[in-house]
Amino acid sequence: MNPLQVKIQQNLQQIEEQLPNSCRLIVVSKYRTLEEIHAAYTCGHRVFAENRVQALLERYEALPQDIQWHLIGHLQTNKVKYIAPFIAMIHSVDSVKLLQTIQQEAAKNQRNIDVLIQLHVAKEETKFGMDIQEATEFFQQFQPENFPNIRICGIMAMASFTEDTNQIHREFSSVESFFKQTAQIHGSKLPHFKELSIGMSGDFAIAIQHGSTYVRIGTRVFA
Ligand SMILES: *Cc1c(COP(=O)(O)O)cnc(C)c1O
Repeated sequence: MNPLQVKIQQNLQQIEEQLPNSCRLIVVSKYRTLEEIHAAYTCGHRVFAENRVQALLERYEALPQDIQWHLIGHLQTNKVKYIAPFIAMIHSVDSVKLLQTIQQEAAKNQRNIDVLIQLHVAKEETKFGMDIQEATEFFQQFQPENFPNIRICGIMAMASFTEDTNQIHREFSSVESFFKQTAQIHGSKLPHFKELSIGMSGDFAIAIQHGSTYVRIGTRVFA
């Protein structure tokens, strides 16, 4: 193994050691070179995420076909068609309109697409997602028969970018409560609803305490 692979393998191992069995690591490869991503692949990692469609497509083309690609960034409806043939999971669904477009493109490709609903709980306005009220209405109104090619697998959220760990706890705690409530109230129409995508390099240890099933980590893997 070359020095890059050794470093990435050590980082991956240190992260994996901190994760409970119920939580899986998604390596966030945005802004990284193909060489860096391939090094993580060589270490045995197969699940990667990008936040922009254009970068995702370039990497999908250039890297091995057995990688499972997740999209974690804001998605415009006119770009859904490019990723619909292969995307493993879309974490950033924040409107019914987007979900309808994903349904159409999934049907065209004769496949099912796994999605998460993005919840906005951070204080930064710049972050996307539905607030708790919008998400509550969304789940009340959601009719699975209108979305035969969509599997709503759970919730994604980001905490505020802050040193204040109490605030991060509070934000993840409200995401966790909403996730559990939704599973309880709407579980019968959401048979795949079991994933909670919370936790990044700076806050994944806190996210795990709030039931994270997917941590999305970039910096801590590659830096
Ligand atoms: C960049 C990004 C991450 C990973 O952030 P790191 O701090 O590099 O681990 C996770 N989730 C989303 C939505 C991101 O945009």
